[in-house]
Amino acid sequence: MKIPAKGLSKGEVLEQLEAYRANDMNWRDGRTWAYIYDPGQEAEEVIKKSYMMYLTENALDPTVFPSALRFENELVAMAAAHLNGDENVVGNFTSGGTESIMLAVKTARDYARATRPEVREPEIVLPVTAHAAFQKAAHYLCLKPVLVPVDPVTFKADPEAVRRAITPNTVLLVGSAVSYAHGVVDPIRELGQIAIENDLLLHVDGCMGGFLLPYFRRLGAPVPDFDFSVPGVTSISMDFHKYAFAAKGASVILYRDKELRKHQIYTCAQWTGYTVINPTVQSTKSIGPLAAAWAIINFFGDEGYLEIARQVLDATRRIAAAVESMPDLRLLGRPEMNLVAFTSDTVSVFHIIDEMKTRKWYIQPQLGFHGSKENIHLSVNPASVRWVDDLIADLGECVEKAKTMPPGVPQALKDALAAIDPATFTDETLAQMLGMAGIQGTALPERMAGINEVLNSLPPELSEKLLTGFMNELLVYRGE
Ligand SMILES: *Cc1c(COP(=O)(O)O)cnc(C)c1O
Repeated sequence: MKIPAKGLSKGEVLEQLEAYRANDMNWRDGRTWAYIYDPGQEAEEVIKKSYMMYLTENALDPTVFPSALRFENELVAMAAAHLNGDENVVGNFTSGGTESIMLAVKTARDYARATRPEVREPEIVLPVTAHAAFQKAAHYLCLKPVLVPVDPVTFKADPEAVRRAITPNTVLLVGSAVSYAHGVVDPIRELGQIAIENDLLLHVDGCMGGFLLPYFRRLGAPVPDFDFSVPGVTSISMDFHKYAFAAKGASVILYRDKELRKHQIYTCAQWTGYTVINPTVQSTKSIGPLAAAWAIINFFGDEGYLEIARQVLDATRRIAAAVESMPDLRLLGRPEMNLVAFTSDTVSVFHIIDEMKTRKWYIQPQLGFHGSKENIHLSVNPASVRWVDDLIADLGECVEKAKTMPPGVPQALKDALAAIDPATFTDETLAQMLGMAGIQGTALPERMAGINEVLNSLPPELSEKLLTGFMNELLVYRGE
């Protein structure tokens, strides 16, 4: 495809943009239980307007644009106070949870390089419920991820398993508050104790839970301690672009003190251009996300967020109770925030998801891993609260419907796919597998149960190969 020879008018461009949306998920109706953090229309206007006001300004150099520094320092200070940090807590605004986590891992690595040069192959201990971003960070930054099992009933990190996984090469422990998959808070106090005893850093991943958990606690929910009030916690990540409802591209990484944060900052004076001093991964970046995050927090304020927390907590409890009352469904863990994961021992959850889709609900599948059976994951948004009764009613009916349906793919096919050796995986294997899984080219079928069942049954190394190949095919221009 070539750049069009002649430019379009402003109106034509905007029209085209609108047209490109045609197949996007329609989240505005509030029937989408993933991906979207919808704060309602007025708040959305606030975010968009503030983002646009600062779209062009560059946060690369806060000495030239002091507004960037002011937004960042105020956001970090509010986050630190929110998470019981004292005046020594410092941090940075980042583009998202992944970047915050990447930086926490980099800081741990470089802190170890400075203080324990004998460690050649640094390791990071990860409960299997820790977000994949930690494994991604370990991959990018050359650390070894050491996965440890979690409690099979609560899905919380098992402190003794973490303790046993520590070796002379360990540089970082990780706990979640909350974990994405099950919405539960790990035993951060116990992990903090282990970190102190072993003189290790402990990162708490509050990307999902950090912002709303303090509100749930104020509403009387039994939220375990997870923040800087816990001895041993050395860094915390918290996303503004999830349940603080900021525009996407907004998270924060906090450290207990400046001494530790020093290891995060990258500086380069050895080239011919301007001196690079980057506290975070990005360099040239818009002030828009900073301005929008600042705007939405000031728009809602403490009282506004408390009210949102009240609504989503109530809705979550109603959904969890409904799931528990359905004999075919079973909660995975006890959600400690507005996330619910549930599975079934009698019906295919993938069929349930497809059936719900025909009724215009979008709900998210999670594949099975390490004792966490394949399941359905719901993120409860304020915009979805009004749908709770309808969701529950449709869920009950879709479970019944799913019961009558045959497996999405024959067992023989799953067996044949699982027998493929990931070590000898070629483009041909990929084409073969995609075909067997029912994927034609890169077009996904309307009903996804077959593909989900296949992915769920494959050894993870093999499904990683398959999905890498699929994405590599998807990201190719093929004309209209
Ligand atoms: C979403 C999430 C992340 C990753 O954040 P992104 O903003 O998607 O990069 C990390 N940890 C948890 C618990 C999350 O829910």
